[in-house]
Amino acid sequence: MPMSLAARSIRLAAGFSSLATTALRTFAGVLLPRAAVVLVAVVAVAAASGDEAVPVDASPQWWKGNIHTHTFWSDGNDFPEMVAEWYRTRDYNFLALTDHNVLAQGIRWIPEKRALDRGGPDVITKYLDRFGPTWVDRRGEGDAAEIRLKPFDEFRALVEQRGQFLLIPAEEISDAVAGKPVHINASNIAEAIQPVGGQTVSEAIQNNLRAVREQAERAGRSILAHLNHPNFGNAVTPADLAHATLEQHFEVFNGHPSVKQLGDDTTPSIEQLWDIANVIRLTELGAAPLFGVATDDCHDYHSGPGDRQSSRPGRGWVMVKTTHLTPEKIIQALQVGDFYASSGVTLTAVTFDDTSNTLSLAVKPDGDATFTTRFIGSVTEAGSKPQIGIELAAVEGLTPSYTLTGRELYVRAVVSSSEPPVDPVWKEQRQQAWTQPFGWQKPSDD
Ligand SMILES: [Zn+2]
Ligand SMILES: [Zn+2]
Repeated sequence: MPMSLAARSIRLAAGFSSLATTALRTFAGVLLPRAAVVLVAVVAVAAASGDEAVPVDASPQWWKGNIHTHTFWSDGNDFPEMVAEWYRTRDYNFLALTDHNVLAQGIRWIPEKRALDRGGPDVITKYLDRFGPTWVDRRGEGDAAEIRLKPFDEFRALVEQRGQFLLIPAEEISDAVAGKPVHINASNIAEAIQPVGGQTVSEAIQNNLRAVREQAERAGRSILAHLNHPNFGNAVTPADLAHATLEQHFEVFNGHPSVKQLGDDTTPSIEQLWDIANVIRLTELGAAPLFGVATDDCHDYHSGPGDRQSSRPGRGWVMVKTTHLTPEKIIQALQVGDFYASSGVTLTAVTFDDTSNTLSLAVKPDGDATFTTRFIGSVTEAGSKPQIGIELAAVEGLTPSYTLTGRELYVRAVVSSSEPPVDPVWKEQRQQAWTQPFGWQKPSDD
């Protein structure tokens, strides 16, 4: 019997947990009797127990989350509880606070002056207004005044909501090779991971991913690693990304204005980089293609929407399809590709039928907005130069689909709305959604 794409992805993916494999094989088996990857909108069914937050017969549903953002624990400009509140009150379901080379643990007091310098004159007042003087810890007077940064384990119970909002312990492992930033987020870690370094960018990526994997195995938990903003500092080339084959996830969209999303004279756009790396992986290395996440990488919670110079919240997120809002379920679904990335467009279904080799989407209507879906792929044919990241088709409307002809290495979809995002990063930006590459598993792989 042909193995489902999801199950085969699990087999090939550099998975960090055997638990993930078991759980998701079951997930695939139950959901996919026709051996297709089917991510469909599911209406929550009332549980026999009457517990709507954790029903006995939980069905897969979409959960919205951001897995890259900063707080006062490193160079973000607000308190971690305030950052969590920003997302919780805007219908996010999960959030990973990812400060540089630190997991929010232990006792940490910071000078109030420093908090005010970074977060603006109202930052402590806003914190007090939200949580009150019985929660906020302060000491000292005048220039010696300090305020305590609460550790993750202390504040998570204050903001988490069962079945609605979840915090995931995380870190941005912030490494550098010859001055080039190599940043990798690790989500659902048990303890901080210090950067390992390497002789080359690709080697540093591999070394850090190995450290993540070691912790996952040692701690017996699923940890997602994803490579951040490859074009930041022109640091990570498509070849670097391709050859670091432990890497399975990278940021196809990052809301920080300095990350060269669209490339420049010397650097391909992030989407071009994705396609080039995936062609190298599939044709030269026999490795699985990369999956793309969208994130905020927010540092500034106080400027207003429309400030394109600031890295602000709410610009990029992932929609993850799984049964339960727990760290393990969310991470495992991300690991096997049961998610899409978004900067505004919502998809209610992403379906790949590997019998007919058809990728089909359902786009959620949004007022008067119109939608164009570009199906992007790469084609390699004997005797001719590979065509990398070409537009295979462009389809208008809410139910686009594309059937592979057999010459494509893979197909992925990018849906663009006619509407700009609420808080655009560049002038002509439109709301978008990105699916993962599909159709790269050939029958001979079984
Ligand atoms: Zn970074
Ligand atoms: Zn960051």
